[in-house]
Amino acid sequence: MKTSQQNPIDQLARPLRDLRISITDRCNFRCTYCMPESHYNESYQFMDRSNILSYEEIIRTVKLFSQCGVKKLRITGGEPLVRKDCHQLISMLKPIQGIEDIALTTNGALLSQNIDKLKDAGLDRITVSLDSLDQHIFEKISGKSFPLQNILDGIALAKKQLSGPVKINMVVKKDINDHCVIEMLEYCKKHNLILRFIEFMDVGNLNQWSTKDVVSSKKLLKTIEKKWNVYPIDPNYKGEVAQRYQFSDGSGEFGFISSVSHPFCGDCHRARLSADGKLYTCLFAQNGFDLKTLLRNQTSDEDLLKTIKQHWTDRQDQYSQLRNTSSISSSKKVEMYSIGG
Ligand code: SAM
Ligand code: SF4
Ligand code: SF4
Repeated sequence: MKTSQQNPIDQLARPLRDLRISITDRCNFRCTYCMPESHYNESYQFMDRSNILSYEEIIRTVKLFSQCGVKKLRITGGEPLVRKDCHQLISMLKPIQGIEDIALTTNGALLSQNIDKLKDAGLDRITVSLDSLDQHIFEKISGKSFPLQNILDGIALAKKQLSGPVKINMVVKKDINDHCVIEMLEYCKKHNLILRFIEFMDVGNLNQWSTKDVVSSKKLLKTIEKKWNVYPIDPNYKGEVAQRYQFSDGSGEFGFISSVSHPFCGDCHRARLSADGKLYTCLFAQNGFDLKTLLRNQTSDEDLLKTIKQHWTDRQDQYSQLRNTSSISSSKKVEMYSIGG
């Protein structure tokens, strides 16, 4: 079977550029907006280990994606650092031809003890998710009692060790942590971290999402402008999801990821691979395409490549853009922790 040399373009003329790889569905936190404890308790059955892609299977898959135009990878989960030797995967991904950038998204709980290994493995950038600097609020959101200081220590080490910027993701929920926004921005400004405010999204089916709980980026910007002079800056590249802002005194930048109030489907060039080897072309997809079975039943690289390209070519996803229209199905969506955000 001959495969076209061309990179695939989807039905809305979007190329494939980024791949987000979830390496585990397990997590040491139980964030209310992602894996609420009420559901993900002791009786919850996580994926069987035999169903999780091995690092070798991930490498083979990434090599194929790089032949479709993927240049950037993000390792995520679940919590990627709970999977054994996550750094080894990064060192195996690093030499793949065409891959220019490897990032990791983590809750930071295991960052301090892993940062040296991650750096040596070739990790370029890191994003740490942190929703409050108040221990009590942090525990309320993350669903675990865990010393916040350990995460802050990990962030400081990451800042020292990595050449690329360290970003902080803060999901803002009304009446839960919206009053923490200024304090978080002050902390990030002081430590030269790039804060991204994320609107609470209707990912998955279990986080009791309601528009009432979303704090729009517009509203947050107004709050921020009461304290600082800030101005919008251009995206780093076409398709960057965050709307970037800079402090007028030159002391850094922050941004908004406004999937609810300001959808960015038009430039969405991300695919997602779940820990059990399913390919998702949208964060809000209902089904993934089972690549693992193909990987495990002697399918040739050429046929796999053709399948991946076809999948991307057929893609029409634009959930956020259509969120408030009748064309959105009410069927079950994939859970965020299984494809990693
Ligand atoms: N465990 C890692 C972490 O928390 O950084 C990686 C996986 S987590 C699913 C990736 C990102 O998704 C995190 O920044 C998290 O805050 C975000 N996220 C999860 N559920 C969300 C939701 N309902 N709305 C907005 N962001 C969400
Ligand atoms: Fe775990 Fe990240 Fe989901 Fe929180 S957001 S429950 S840390 S996977
Ligand atoms: Fe991309 Fe789907 Fe998010 Fe739109 S809703 S930006 S298509 S992942």
